[in-house]
Amino acid sequence: MSSLSHNRTLSERDRDAVLHPYTNPIRHQETGPLVISRGEGVRVFDDSGKDYIEGLAGLWCTALGWGEERLVAAASEQMRRLPFYHLFGHKAHDPAIELCERLLALAPVPMSKVFLTGSGSEANDTALKLIRYRANALGQPQKKKVIARDRAYHGVTLATSSLTGLAVNHRSFDLPDPAVLRAACPHHYRNARPGESEEDFSTRLAAELEALILAEGPDTVAAFFAEPVMGAGGVIVPPAGYFAKIQAVLDKYDVLLVADEVICGFGRTGKMFGTETFGLRPDIITVAKGLSSGYLPISAVLLSEKMVAPIVAEAGRIGTLGHGFTYGGHPVSAAVAVETLKIYAERDILAHVGRVGPRLQDGLRGFANHPLVGEVRGVGLIGAVELVADKATKAAFDPARGVGAALVARAQQHGLILRAMGDAVAFAPPLVISEDEIAEMLTRFARALADVTAEVI
Ligand code: PLP
Repeated sequence: MSSLSHNRTLSERDRDAVLHPYTNPIRHQETGPLVISRGEGVRVFDDSGKDYIEGLAGLWCTALGWGEERLVAAASEQMRRLPFYHLFGHKAHDPAIELCERLLALAPVPMSKVFLTGSGSEANDTALKLIRYRANALGQPQKKKVIARDRAYHGVTLATSSLTGLAVNHRSFDLPDPAVLRAACPHHYRNARPGESEEDFSTRLAAELEALILAEGPDTVAAFFAEPVMGAGGVIVPPAGYFAKIQAVLDKYDVLLVADEVICGFGRTGKMFGTETFGLRPDIITVAKGLSSGYLPISAVLLSEKMVAPIVAEAGRIGTLGHGFTYGGHPVSAAVAVETLKIYAERDILAHVGRVGPRLQDGLRGFANHPLVGEVRGVGLIGAVELVADKATKAAFDPARGVGAALVARAQQHGLILRAMGDAVAFAPPLVISEDEIAEMLTRFARALADVTAEVI
């Protein structure tokens, strides 16, 4: 087939051969792809050499930025020594052991064991399966319903798509599974009643959660899944008091909490885990993305003793734990993850986020008075700017106008890659971003916003 590639651009070849995730395939035939060919620090470069600041760290993952040679060295060394091995059937390898030990040591609440997986979806899918397994182990076969929130993002496997609370992940896939119960999205700006304080809003959502659990029957509800800060649903920072009030309800009815730290884990919110920033007490934590700085696919499920003891007993009875992925805990990915965690510690990434995070948040808040900006929100090095048609009434633009997408397209022209979630635009740059680079990112964003304002008003 290689002769077919001669004299054809990458763009043409892409259009003919690649079906893209999260892309309109019909429009793609007209626009073609943005082909990224290399990266350096917080920037990536397209095949014409143009530079872009990666305002979303790829897919919220490349925490150490591009070109981190220590990760390259860790991968190549492991690749030479043991490029593949696995953890099935009593086998082990040193990178996986060391990674699990390090994760247990970092865990924000006491955790007993780690199950290694390959992606955020696989980690959450594994959590779901182990919750079910535990219920059977405990002789509570009816206690299997799970609750996830509107606008949650927990993955796209057949099971985790149903946890995800976004219509685009359900439509025409015959999803969601009705066994997944839906709680409200804790977005104060959009979902609070007029005059309702953040605390009152949190109190109401906790009361609604309790009513849902009671209506379903507490003995049928197993777990509540939550991202500390909801990412793909629009960067929703929980309102004051939210997790304390939710946690009290979960404790009352013996409902497990799964903290999906796939985006928040490893410093994004200013502490090592969003669990610490917002005071969660999870029974299960899932991590991915920042675990390897996105350099290789790897994810993990951290399990408390409350999970581990019944699972071990059940698997012992059955004769094996019948779950595992070929690439779960892949040695090269695990070696890169171990090196990533070492770098976070040695360079004190949390102190860095503590220094530069306020620059991002203050800079974003600088747009709050702009006539099209309805809300600016964020914490640490994650944030969003939501555009509205009417600031006073918070009325959104007609989605058909694609204002958020237009802003992102303009930003791209100005050398800044961002992501639109409806008319909210997300920022989650590499954690290693400097103050000067944040300033440059915001300057590029201001240019894009000015362009879109001229088009919209
Ligand atoms: N959970 C959260 C919070 C995520 O943001 C994502 C991906 O963006 C996932 C889970 C799914 O991860 P993956 O795309 O690696 O399957």
